[in-house]
Amino acid sequence: MSGVSLVGVTKMYGAVKALDHVSVDVRDGELLALLGPSGCGKTTLLRCVAGLERPDRGSVEIGEADITVTPTRERPIGMVFQNYALFPNLTVRQNIAFPLEVRHRPRTEIDARVYELLDLVHLTEQGDRYPKQISGGQAQRCALGRALAPNPEVLLLDEPLSALDALVRGRLRDEIRRVQQLVGITAIYVTHDQSEAMAIADRVAVMNAGRVEQIAAPADLYDMPSTQFSAKFVGSRNAVELAVRNGQVGIPGSFQIDAPAGSNGHALAFFRPEDVKVSVGDDGPGMAARVELKIFLGATTRLHLVGEADGEPIALFGDLPSRRARQIGEGEMVRVDVDPDHVQAFPV
Ligand code: ATP
Repeated sequence: MSGVSLVGVTKMYGAVKALDHVSVDVRDGELLALLGPSGCGKTTLLRCVAGLERPDRGSVEIGEADITVTPTRERPIGMVFQNYALFPNLTVRQNIAFPLEVRHRPRTEIDARVYELLDLVHLTEQGDRYPKQISGGQAQRCALGRALAPNPEVLLLDEPLSALDALVRGRLRDEIRRVQQLVGITAIYVTHDQSEAMAIADRVAVMNAGRVEQIAAPADLYDMPSTQFSAKFVGSRNAVELAVRNGQVGIPGSFQIDAPAGSNGHALAFFRPEDVKVSVGDDGPGMAARVELKIFLGATTRLHLVGEADGEPIALFGDLPSRRARQIGEGEMVRVDVDPDHVQAFPV
């Protein structure tokens, strides 16, 4: 097995810079998710690894080999696309066998490998069905089996769950992860869904406008986004613009932290709704705030809170365990406190 390295990859489409000097190392056996909004360059990056696009600058390596100009069919990769791309006239078994047939592998080897893969992707019973006779989730498992058939070194997945409904999506996501770990294959997984990226990946690369903003393990990205873009894009956060005073920003009575370098008059403070401490009653520590709205989310309830600092209204969200939130009614006054260790500020 092998890792993948992109070194200074730039890709232009006319005047559009789809990739802007991107360098990424995907470790051997790792699943790296490429996460970002539409048009940020995720698919272009994947297509450069697949050989479906050629970078204008920079290089792509798999293991020790520079494959920047190697044709797709000669790259040691398997691909899974959003739309399954199965051959409709071939059965599940024949679809999985196809990449081995075109490589003229011996019949006994093909049969043994297909048997093994049908078991791996849990399709043994559906082996003789045609694509139109199986569900979307099964079709994608078949596509996964076909991609893995020739024992590629790298698996590339482009939004493989987008065409499926929510319930199947969650199950297949876990299934893809199980298979990837079992096989121990290096994988790159494109998605615009942050919860999917966090759930499936060893590390997540957050992309923005053709660049990689941050690469981090899901929990680190969730706790400590390193850029304002990552903070806005990953997880739901309060983003409160605050005045800088004496080198500090804060909500009076609630938290106070050093202003970020480069802030000019104002800074944007980010903190998670679950890090907002809400206490009942209108005295005690924290900023006084009114509960404008309560949204029941199951285990937690989200409170829409409005307080005031320096005569300006401050709106923020606070998440509470739902059992606690039952004691708080809409329209009630509460105190709101935020642990400064969980606040990040960026220059406006
Ligand atoms: P999405 O999630 O919508 O698929 P993405 O992050 O995968 O988006 P890319 O498809 O990589 O983004 O596109 C990156 C940029 O390059 C976009 O601005 C897109 O419009 C542009 N682009 C992509 N392919 C082409 C093409 N063949 N010709 C011209 N521009 C292109």
